[in-house]
Amino acid sequence: MQSQYRYQTGDQTLVRQMNLSVIMRHLRENSPMSRSSLAEMTGLNKTTVSSLVQELIDRQFVREVGFEPAGSGRRAGRLGMMLTLDPAAGYIVSGEIGVDFIEVICTDFAPEILWRHEEKIQQKMGQQEIIDRVLALLHQAADSGSESCKSFLGVAVGVPGLVDQSSGDLLFAPNLGWKDIPLREILQTSISAPVVVDNEASISALGEYYFGAAQGYEELLYISVGVGLGGGIVHAGQLYNGSTGVSTEFGHMTMDPDGLLCSCGNRGCWETQVSQQALFRYIHNALKSEHASLLSKKTGGNTNQLTVQMVVEAAREGDVLALDGLIMIGRYLGIGIASLVNALNPDLVVLGGILSLASEFLLPVVDDVLDQRCLQWNRDATKVVTAKHGLDACVMGGVAKIYQAVLAEPNKLERQVA
Ligand SMILES: [Zn+2]
Repeated sequence: MQSQYRYQTGDQTLVRQMNLSVIMRHLRENSPMSRSSLAEMTGLNKTTVSSLVQELIDRQFVREVGFEPAGSGRRAGRLGMMLTLDPAAGYIVSGEIGVDFIEVICTDFAPEILWRHEEKIQQKMGQQEIIDRVLALLHQAADSGSESCKSFLGVAVGVPGLVDQSSGDLLFAPNLGWKDIPLREILQTSISAPVVVDNEASISALGEYYFGAAQGYEELLYISVGVGLGGGIVHAGQLYNGSTGVSTEFGHMTMDPDGLLCSCGNRGCWETQVSQQALFRYIHNALKSEHASLLSKKTGGNTNQLTVQMVVEAAREGDVLALDGLIMIGRYLGIGIASLVNALNPDLVVLGGILSLASEFLLPVVDDVLDQRCLQWNRDATKVVTAKHGLDACVMGGVAKIYQAVLAEPNKLERQVA
């Protein structure tokens, strides 16, 4: 009897938590809203909505912002009090450890960026030094958040490698040369809020889904092209993790069994064909065989100075070599995306990472390849766009990751920040 009773209590708590989460989600998507519109949109009865809203107001997640404008009500009578999420409810700190940079931001609950910092990782910096620097920046960001917001909601850090979801260990980051680092444990030691560590491209996908180009879409395929090629899938509102959390390593799909050696040790991975390096290699080789190009001048003859921005500028000025390089990358990018679109049937493909700076040249080629290679039904169901957050994709993804946890379990949050 007793266990049955306890089960029922647990169940009711869970239902209330799910309902709180539904209310917060609707407020995030449709603010400002009145209690009666919330009841109508969620299907919950008015008494339940009032009680849930009161709880969220008491916890300072939600605030009242004045009566709805006259004439907006569907029925005559009293105008409803409008509600929104309270931006000052809490602050979120989010960082990215890139292959050659660190970026850290702090946002409020809106989420608006309150503080940001970006710096290059110096080549001489070792692993420990980089992690110490990241920690120092996370603390600085948290200090700035605590000045204007109430609770410290969490910290997310994105890394260019495989992460064990249960432990937060960084298993392997080939482009950093890092292996088996208990990163979450290291960071959590000196941070009072929950810390999450995840793959850069996966959380970027979540950021675009929550706050970016994929808002309103349900099945998202995100492709990030930079030093390497990564990706993420959002399925039915959740990041797809696979069985052990190391999924969506699209960059290491074998595209050419006899191709170039990849940083993972395999040959002919997709990222050997589609990455910043692949673009630079093409240009470097063409310049060596004395193709005329604006890029000779832009780099001062030293192709080690090449940047994606330079290639985009040259392409805009009509430089044939820059255009050819981007067309080649676009073609291989399209070939891989076409296979993924056939396999996954997404309603949106979002291109992010530094190569998305060249979207105006890449996407038309990708679209042509999809027209040629996708099954017509898969092709018709999808379109390809550029990420909204650009180089902030990962840090905004980290914010989304914490946000999602708060929306899903407002009760848990109170325990964590108490
Ligand atoms: Zn590989």
